[in-house]
Amino acid sequence: MSQAYKSGLLSANHRSPDFEQLYVEVLAVLKKRLNVPEGYSLFFTSSATECWEVIAQSLVQQRSHHIYNGAFGQKWFTYTQRLRPQATGQLYDVQAPLPVDGLELPAGTEVLCVTQNETSNGTQVSNATLAALRAKHPEVLLAVDATSSMAGVKLRFDLADVWYASVQKCFGLPAGMAVMLCSERAIERAEQIGANSHYNSLPFMVQNMRKYQTTHTPNVLNIYLLYRTQKEARRIRAVDASLKRRAAAFMAACQHLPGLQPLVKNEAVRSDTVLVFEGTPELVAQVIQQAAQAGLVLGKGYGAHKTTTFRVANFPAVTDAEMNRLLQFLQQYFNTKP
Ligand SMILES: *Cc1c(COP(=O)(O)O)cnc(C)c1O
Repeated sequence: MSQAYKSGLLSANHRSPDFEQLYVEVLAVLKKRLNVPEGYSLFFTSSATECWEVIAQSLVQQRSHHIYNGAFGQKWFTYTQRLRPQATGQLYDVQAPLPVDGLELPAGTEVLCVTQNETSNGTQVSNATLAALRAKHPEVLLAVDATSSMAGVKLRFDLADVWYASVQKCFGLPAGMAVMLCSERAIERAEQIGANSHYNSLPFMVQNMRKYQTTHTPNVLNIYLLYRTQKEARRIRAVDASLKRRAAAFMAACQHLPGLQPLVKNEAVRSDTVLVFEGTPELVAQVIQQAAQAGLVLGKGYGAHKTTTFRVANFPAVTDAEMNRLLQFLQQYFNTKP
């Protein structure tokens, strides 16, 4: 932050060459570090929630289809329905992979919407499942919410047309911004539809992006921080491997804590970045409260699992030492519990 301030960038006009240069560089860094294919464009929005709206108003004329198993996927569906009442949704089981084989899309589906890492229940959709989905329905645009996995998990960006994430999760940055990556096909579709009734209608965003500018004054400080932190971070392959190892070790060490189970029993669909534990509401409330007293902030449950779970963020910004401290707390709590 101090270097951003000293650089003068924070007072530079967002249509100045200095800002355009930053846009060029942050795109290059993300492409290199996260393995984003050539041809994908980068956009900045204020939040993942805004991305739900941008997709609904600029890429869907009548109908998107939403396949979800938790609260964030469902919210995306409901937000879309307000703008596009014909949008359809389909719920699937938390313990099972996203059902590709039997999947028939409603006639006229333009965009298929999937939440890759469902932060409310700690499930994830594998690259293999996304590949199968893409192969089964190549004609529709595929849009993926990767808010709690992008920059933590190795994602195959080539498998979908739109990817987005707000930066306060695996990017480890201050809240208030999201990144959205779009394939050439998504941009062609947006231009063909030609939505123009929102300041962030995608065609306006595209026109500005071609000049490495934004439709409105963006969060320049956070864009700078994104650039600097991603430039210095390890390549995604290494981060992905560390997080997977740490998640597996943490879950294994928690296996025998009495009264506590992983919410997601099926390891094939269990998230590596959001670890969710289930117990009685009394136990969960007590663990969260005792942890807070020990200076550890556990994530409360969310949506349908609000009172019966707590959530642990296994994000890159969390250190191994912090994860170990939490583990020690849990082991101590359960051994000394009356
Ligand atoms: C956190 C989260 C969101 C919402 O992000 P905002 O930045 O608050 O809009 C959306 N989807 C998923 C999967 C999330 O984890």
